Amino acid sequence: MQKCSLLLAALVNAGFIISHSSLIAAEPLGYKDTPMLPGQPWHVHDPDRPRPRVVTPGATFSHGAPPPSDAVVLFDGTDLSKWKCDKGEAGWKVENGYVEAVKGSGNIRTKEDFGDFQLHLEFATPEKVVGNSQGRGNSGVLIFGNFEVQVLDSYDNLTYPDGQCGAMYGQYPPLVSAVKKPGEWQSYDIIFEAPQWDKDGKLTKRANVTVLLNGVLLHHKKEYIGKSVHKEIGTYEKIHESRGPIMLQDHGNPMHFRNIWIRNLGEYDKP
Ligand code: MG
Repeated sequence: MQKCSLLLAALVNAGFIISHSSLIAAEPLGYKDTPMLPGQPWHVHDPDRPRPRVVTPGATFSHGAPPPSDAVVLFDGTDLSKWKCDKGEAGWKVENGYVEAVKGSGNIRTKEDFGDFQLHLEFATPEKVVGNSQGRGNSGVLIFGNFEVQVLDSYDNLTYPDGQCGAMYGQYPPLVSAVKKPGEWQSYDIIFEAPQWDKDGKLTKRANVTVLLNGVLLHHKKEYIGKSVHKEIGTYEKIHESRGPIMLQDHGNPMHFRNIWIRNLGEYDKP
């Protein structure tokens, strides 16, 4: 695996990669001209940041997990009636029990807003590997459209650690890398606590997230520095929302998603 990554790095440094007998422009493997992350010795998208240890996940953790009775089923494999597309109703394609992101069709987001929640979804990156780094099997779960849990084909795919699959994009890499091979179904179980503001608009609680990828913990109640922004440090300014939609990103790759459901977290002693 390491040899393959080193070869790819050499090709990328030369400005190109070879993909299925054709040359395509290489995506960068990171940036050093970006701001320093607050409280961390790394630039945003720092290529020198340590790479998370690779863990081989179990075969089928939560795959096909049936929704609990109090879940809102967001996608059961048949239609996108719970979603709207940034560019209109068409866009993403439903077939064979999954929905495929169609290049250029825009992000999709839930019509309903959520606050603190438990989300289950499954995804598969394209079986046919095209591109490198952030250009390979890229999508994302953008909570409230602002806080991204990265979806990427990170199987033997060198990229900046805070942008690999499971990263809190641009802020923290996952604790470990627990991805499956291209084309294989993978499961995300995400618990999110929304940011809170007081009546004067002062932030009183940062958003935090707990993420399991294929049954392996990637983050535990980790706070977002701010919203997820490419090459910049996002802030909480101009969000001021403690509820919002779940958004899935169209990043130009034919990603597949299935079995998406969500539960409100609720509160103790408030049945
Ligand atoms: Mg993404």
